[in-house]
Amino acid sequence: AKDSGKGKFLLYDEALERTHEADQKLGADLRRAFDAGEFSLVYQPIVGLPGGSWTGLETLIRWQHPEQGFIGPDTFIPIAERTGLIVPLGTWILHTALGQMAAWDAEFGPGVAPRELGVNVSARQLREPGFAGEVREALSFSGVSPDRLVVEVTETAVFDGGVALNTLLEIVRLGVKVALDDFGTGHSSLGLLRTVPANTLKVDKSFVAGIGGASEEAVIATAMIQITDGLHLKAVAEGVETESQAETLYGLGYRFAQGYHFSRPLPPAEVRARLVDGRLA
Ligand code: C2E
Ligand code: CA
Ligand code: CA
Ligand code: CA
Repeated sequence: AKDSGKGKFLLYDEALERTHEADQKLGADLRRAFDAGEFSLVYQPIVGLPGGSWTGLETLIRWQHPEQGFIGPDTFIPIAERTGLIVPLGTWILHTALGQMAAWDAEFGPGVAPRELGVNVSARQLREPGFAGEVREALSFSGVSPDRLVVEVTETAVFDGGVALNTLLEIVRLGVKVALDDFGTGHSSLGLLRTVPANTLKVDKSFVAGIGGASEEAVIATAMIQITDGLHLKAVAEGVETESQAETLYGLGYRFAQGYHFSRPLPPAEVRARLVDGRLA
């Protein structure tokens, strides 16, 4: 029995090592991919309820690997955070997304492209000295008004420490907005609301998924809209996949949503086609 225990331990250790090796390989590959221009950005509409008209776009990164095909951000963003690549990658994301918004404004005139542009920012970026300066530069370079940029951060990133919070405060002083992402899944959520300068809570899709009927998720989603209303914050329900979820959310008081029911994340050419046609709902 002792032997098998030891064997198991070794196996587990080997498995860990293999994961580590795979991560290191992916880490090096990410750097190569960045230099080779394999990353692209897609934009998912955030819509008003009940009509479903576009009020904003969330920027999401995509990686088309030459051999492995599509690799999702949930796989490579954590590795980019560990290797530090997220810092230059994040700067590229910020410049590209703001540049895209400026290009749509230039082509269609002001007020045609959705007002808000969400950009995900990870803890590692917030801890980087000079990050707020990067944001200021990207904004002035693009000419996009700061109050149209919404920096999406997770509770865990902000909980991480005072440095992240100070950077966030600097960004807010530029006029940029802050959304707390995946709200309800991280640490010390409710206490954070007193210290984090957030304008928006993005209610995590795990609550939306279970919202039908007399579920615990419905109770939590109700509590969250009460909190956001009381604190004068905007609530966005994430991961809305069905008409019935959208209706339930609207009934609970939600006025903003995002999810496959309204639109998948779209490549820029598709966003542009929708702007041409005026199909923004
Ligand atoms: P997130 O910020 O919570 O982004 C929302 C995720 O939910 C996206 O996955 C989106 O495609 C997906 N989604 C949208 N509607 C639905 C729906 O109706 N149902 C379901 N099941 N999913 C839906 P994606 O693009 O794979 O991104 C995963 C995560 O990777 C993001 O979660 C974010 O944490 C991270 N990420 C993505 N792009 C970036 C980026 O540019 N920078 C950073 N730092 N992180 C990013
Ligand atoms: Ca997000
Ligand atoms: Ca989210
Ligand atoms: Ca997420």
